[in-house]
Amino acid sequence: MAAFKFPPFDLPPEATALRSEVRTFLSETISDLGAAERARSWSGNSRPFSLALGGRGWIGMTWPRKYGGHERSFAERYVVIEELLAAGAPVGVHWVADRQSGPLLLRFGTEEQRRTLLPGIARGELCFCIGMSEPNVGSDLASVRTRARRVEGGFIVNGQKIWTSNAHIADFMIALVRTGDGDTRHAGLSQLIIDMKSAGLAVRPIANLTGETHFNEVYLEDVFVAENRLIGEEGGGWSQVNAELAFERSGPERYLSSLRIFLEFLRTVGEKASEAERALIGRLTAEIWTLRQMSLSIAGLLAANENPASDAAIVKDLGTALEQEMPRAIQALARDDVDLTDSNPFEETLAYLLQVAPSFSLRGGTREILRGLIARELGLR
Ligand SMILES: Cc1cc2nc3c(=O)[nH]c(=O)nc-3n(C[C@H](O)[C@H](O)[C@H](O)COP(=O)(O)OP(=O)(O)OC[C@H]3O[C@@H](n4cnc5c(N)ncnc54)[C@H](O)[C@@H]3O)c2cc1C
Repeated sequence: MAAFKFPPFDLPPEATALRSEVRTFLSETISDLGAAERARSWSGNSRPFSLALGGRGWIGMTWPRKYGGHERSFAERYVVIEELLAAGAPVGVHWVADRQSGPLLLRFGTEEQRRTLLPGIARGELCFCIGMSEPNVGSDLASVRTRARRVEGGFIVNGQKIWTSNAHIADFMIALVRTGDGDTRHAGLSQLIIDMKSAGLAVRPIANLTGETHFNEVYLEDVFVAENRLIGEEGGGWSQVNAELAFERSGPERYLSSLRIFLEFLRTVGEKASEAERALIGRLTAEIWTLRQMSLSIAGLLAANENPASDAAIVKDLGTALEQEMPRAIQALARDDVDLTDSNPFEETLAYLLQVAPSFSLRGGTREILRGLIARELGLR
């Protein structure tokens, strides 16, 4: 039976030193941000904030300098993103590009793609979105139907993507498309970089439970994509997309999305916490700490160019379970006078997270799919 790897990893001194620098930067840049806005964190968008962060060299941190990166260690990057998430900084504009599109291009992209796109990402200028899901194609990603037909100089793309976070503000989408029929469903898939301003591309918003429009439908009608926008090998999209998903699934955003309500809870109960409240605080802290060690460990494996897909799936499954439980457990203990329509920071944050938390185990691959992946790795299916 396969064993999962979570080699212990301790942050080196230079990473710890960076932590206070990031805290100072955050206290200077987002001190006015309210608790409910901070609760949005990596779903919150601010171009000026992304530009400021890029200016500090905290996007594309580990990438080579020749591509606009800063050649810092993955441990330093980890500290920066951990601090950004803990503070609830509005990192949404550059998040996907920094976390997965950039690393994907570094690994599979052409030299020209790296040179033209990575510096703009690292400066905080470019926003990328993920074009994987389609109507009736979510978990079963290999059934993608959006088709890219070869024409002179490139491809013509027709189809539809759905649930595309930030498509309405993105500069580019990395889309998984069908370029051939192949021997198996997996064989004919490829990844293309699609300019969101292309003729024939239309974005329509979808409102979530809170009424916000964070994700979208993307319609592609005869969209021309130049040959040089193919990532990696034609037909190699399936293994590339799986490598991309490992970047997507293991970061601290997979257990810190509800942290704001925990911090608000701590602030509200203060030192007068009841026995039950103290027990909850202790348990949640222990779980956050354990997940942090696991997530750090995966970051180390990714930095070593390994592909810990199923280990990352465990972090996401456990992490999103905790993120979903946190607002519910806190609500259950909250005092009787809690009014979720109130606008004080605790109630506002709780109301927001109770509404969005169900999506945490859907985005980035559902709980059931991750568990299937884990079971396969264990030889159980
Ligand atoms: C907030 C949010 C943001 C998102 N952003 C993006 C984005 O930017 N880009 C993008 O491409 N997608 C995005 N998604 C889509 C997300 O990846 C899909 O919703 C997810 O993969 C599930 O696909 P689906 O919605 O089609 O559900 P389905 O695949 O239809 O699944 C429905 C239910 O059936 C279960 N199920 C399906 N197949 C199996 C199986 N084989 N075994 C056991 N159970 C199964 C699932 O677990 C789920 O509970 C986002 C989703 C959310 C909620």
